[in-house]
Amino acid sequence: MNIFTFKRGIHPPHGKYLTENKAIEELLPKGLLIYPMSQHIGAPCTPLVKKGDRVLVGQKIGEAKGFVSSPVHSSVSGTVEKVIEMPTSNGSKVMSIIVKNDELYEEIEIPKSKEYYKLSKEEIIGLIREAGVVGMGGATFPTHVKLNPPPDKPIDSIVINAAECEPYLTCDHRLMLEETGEIVEGLKVLAFLFPQVKIYVGIENNKMNAVQLMKKTLKDIPNMEVALLKTKYPQGAEKQLIYAITKREVPSGKLPADVGCVVQNITTVREIYNAVVLGRPVMTRVVTVTGEAVKNPKNLKVKLGTSWSELIEACEGFKEEPIKIIGGGPMMGMTISSLEVPVVKGTSGILCLTKEQAAILEESSCIRCSRCVQVCPMKLTPSFLDSYSRRKEDEAFEKLHGMDCIECGCCTFSCPAKRHLVQSIRTAKRRIIANRKK
Ligand code: SF4
Ligand code: SF4
Repeated sequence: MNIFTFKRGIHPPHGKYLTENKAIEELLPKGLLIYPMSQHIGAPCTPLVKKGDRVLVGQKIGEAKGFVSSPVHSSVSGTVEKVIEMPTSNGSKVMSIIVKNDELYEEIEIPKSKEYYKLSKEEIIGLIREAGVVGMGGATFPTHVKLNPPPDKPIDSIVINAAECEPYLTCDHRLMLEETGEIVEGLKVLAFLFPQVKIYVGIENNKMNAVQLMKKTLKDIPNMEVALLKTKYPQGAEKQLIYAITKREVPSGKLPADVGCVVQNITTVREIYNAVVLGRPVMTRVVTVTGEAVKNPKNLKVKLGTSWSELIEACEGFKEEPIKIIGGGPMMGMTISSLEVPVVKGTSGILCLTKEQAAILEESSCIRCSRCVQVCPMKLTPSFLDSYSRRKEDEAFEKLHGMDCIECGCCTFSCPAKRHLVQSIRTAKRRIIANRKK
């Protein structure tokens, strides 16, 4: 079997041993559920309920406003306690609906079976939109938009991102092992939507049990195959994944559709199955709770809205007080300051690091070794971008294609001078975007 990969990148310690062999456990929430009205890229939702209203499992409680947006549904039955701004894991405050769980899990009426092959493409995409499906790998871009490429951009390849290249995370891996059938049915929905395409499921070669299982399951399905990927970071980044499998390069400022591709995360495929075949909206997700500070790391299937503190409790708490808690993986995740934030659609992991692992090393001057350049998967010059960012020379930053940075952190990881390169580049990107909006 060929092994596909991209150029450059790094090999960080993967830390997956903590949870890769742990079956998914279901966790029922005990406390209040918090549903932020923005769990996706695009316009925030408008609350459809108010204080005192009773809600049911699967009920739409946030209406999407605009095409690039995605509705929010209740994952429990209960009563709305408040509709107020609450902190989220990315540090911002977002209008949120707070629900007191009555623990009855009474559902709205959901039609049990949808014969999707009798529906039009627009109707199927409508089901995906109404179910609130977004990129569940963390990008949270609304899936119905991705599945609606402009007619002048014909699609011939769907690339499924099952690389899970972020260290420590194992939620996608476990899902492939434990919910293979549902994932394959989701793939069939995609094949029905794009009948002429070839579907590639890209899995890194550090998950050979998932590779073998998916290969066996897809064996007799035409136009679907597993693409074995080299374990390398950031193998799951959209442009790197497309290049690895199709050898097509997405040009600067362009999208996968410009090279005939659509990319979907494997958990998103699972949610497409839920939405189209079962008629169920996005209400749960698997979260990897891990890191050396956690007593009993696990893969937990949790209801959206559950507090992170409940997930930590389900893992028996900490064996050592974590010095750093990250939402997602160590390379692209965000550090959080409180565990009192809810699980949302993009919460793939909670990583709790000990003092030893999270030591923040002092920066020293650049020694011009060019290691950052050698590893950058976007072929950028991080050391120069860093200098321009610190000097606020935004024009020069843009001329060097700084806006193409995917914030993968390979440069920071490799820098012997411990320069905070990705943080500095990210600052310049945010500043430029803010200035463009003025
Ligand atoms: S410059 Fe950006 S894309 Fe390149 S290695 Fe650094 S973070 Fe990754
Ligand atoms: S890796 Fe660090 S020290 Fe080396 S050139 Fe890049 S910024 Fe400078």
